[in-house]
Amino acid sequence: MRILIVEDEYSLADALREILKKEKYTVDISDNGQDGLYQALTGIYDAVVLDVMLPEMNGFEVLQNMRAEGIKTPVLMLTAKSGLDDKVQGLDCGADDYMTKPFQTKELLARLRAITRRKGEIESSVITFGDMELNTNMGEISCGKTGKSMKLGVKEFQLLELMMKNKNQIVTKEQIVEKLWGLESDSEYNNAEVYVSFTRKKIKFIGSKVSIKAVRGLGYILEEAK
Ligand code: CA
Repeated sequence: MRILIVEDEYSLADALREILKKEKYTVDISDNGQDGLYQALTGIYDAVVLDVMLPEMNGFEVLQNMRAEGIKTPVLMLTAKSGLDDKVQGLDCGADDYMTKPFQTKELLARLRAITRRKGEIESSVITFGDMELNTNMGEISCGKTGKSMKLGVKEFQLLELMMKNKNQIVTKEQIVEKLWGLESDSEYNNAEVYVSFTRKKIKFIGSKVSIKAVRGLGYILEEAK
């Protein structure tokens, strides 16, 4: 699981990272709202821990922008304020849960587990692009026209899920490497190419008109042949 922490208090952000790492989460930290939003929009996170009072852009705005862009990643908001108004505003903006500082580590972990579980239930569905469907429950692709389906390997699934969630946009090799191997990995980009190639073969096998097109020097984008 990958968690994004958007928090400008370095000591708190570091402490959270250590706690989450022990629980086997992969953690990225952003210390301002603008950068936090930029990272959240990649769609690679399983949850976002979002502070309200942030430089550049506050947590409510970050969240509103995320939801406006169709990013459904579960968000746990953190704030020093305990006012009811803040809580209501957070939930109105699309937060999944809310915690007031200071909080207990155990409670944070429990709430993170709860919101990521909820997400799993909601997202046990189908993502569509052109004549191709990705069933996120079964980890397989199928083609509506031919009726053929094919199981995907874990990395192929992660790759295609990333691309289908970012349809009509170029997905960079860096984004793919981050999603498949994590930020701190030293995987070569070549690995991404290998999985793109495997995935292309499977798409071809089911007879879909969708293809993963390479955009030279930039990355990949999904396309459907006419
Ligand atoms: Ca803050």
